[in-house]
Amino acid sequence: MASVPFELKGKTVYVAGHRGMVGSALVRRLTGEDVELLTATRSEVDLRDQAAVNQWFGARRPQVVFLAAAKVGGIIANDTLRAEFLYDNLAIASNVIHAAQVYGSEKLMFLGSSCIYPRLAPQPLREDSMLTGPLEPTNEPYAIAKIAGIKMVEAYRSQYGADFINVMPTNLYGPGDNYHPEYSHVVAALIRRFHEAKVSGAKNVVVWGTGMPRREFLYVDDLADACIHLMKTYSGTELVNIGTGEDITIAEFARVVAASVGYTSEISFDASRPDGTPRKLLDVSRLAKLGWRAGTALDEGIVLAYHAYLEEKAVQSTRV
Ligand code: GDP
Repeated sequence: MASVPFELKGKTVYVAGHRGMVGSALVRRLTGEDVELLTATRSEVDLRDQAAVNQWFGARRPQVVFLAAAKVGGIIANDTLRAEFLYDNLAIASNVIHAAQVYGSEKLMFLGSSCIYPRLAPQPLREDSMLTGPLEPTNEPYAIAKIAGIKMVEAYRSQYGADFINVMPTNLYGPGDNYHPEYSHVVAALIRRFHEAKVSGAKNVVVWGTGMPRREFLYVDDLADACIHLMKTYSGTELVNIGTGEDITIAEFARVVAASVGYTSEISFDASRPDGTPRKLLDVSRLAKLGWRAGTALDEGIVLAYHAYLEEKAVQSTRV
């Protein structure tokens, strides 16, 4: 098992999921490192296909792997596409982690999620609270697949001495997010809804749920920076949470988004929509001890994310 510090310089680095919000942030961040970046589109390698993954790893033999590929979505996508969230994420984790071991990758980072922690675990969520209680039902399939991936990393470390590590990002937002009105996460959904209301002059914007759940939000470029930092400086069995250490109610958060977008009319809440888990705040003390903290304040990050949304919209409107 390799020790730390781990040198990225001069290595071939595979970002699995490079077209997603997290993967594309990792690619942006890795351009500042002296590495040879490897990526593969879905049509080149379907990560759910074990034979295709093995073939690709056999040909390219990446020295370093960031496993950021996953089927993701907001509370409704997770709750309705339950089979897809379980199958796709289990298959992706299983195929990529196994291939990294078989084809001799020196180091792998698996990105989990804060939803792997029990619904009612003490807050802030410590890494050792995984598997101490029942999960939030709306995203249980996703969480179970992520927990299986975490356990694979642990098992491959202990049985094969592989230098594989697990990190758990909190709720993320930023460029490359999915703005689907029904299936997106709350940040993208609200940026879009407040923007459209501002443009159309609507006098009310509806926010799902009671507004009372609390969430922590991390700007995705901060996440990428934390991942590179941990890849270089951390090796161990314990998970490492990645977050800001601060949370906010959905009602307060909606006001932050409205202010950033420039929407000034009413906000109402639709309690017939699910709240999901009441609170999801990560304990980031392990991360702090490892020498990293988030640099982007929430209001600053939301403005950056709103600009990214406007740019992505402009690009789309120029495509026929
Ligand atoms: P979660 O953290 O896994 O629950 O993921 P989401 O980002 O989908 O939802 C976070 C919280 O925001 C939940 O309490 C939702 O009910 C609330 N929320 C409010 N409005 C919206 C919306 O338009 N879309 C989504 N996805 N969530 C919303």
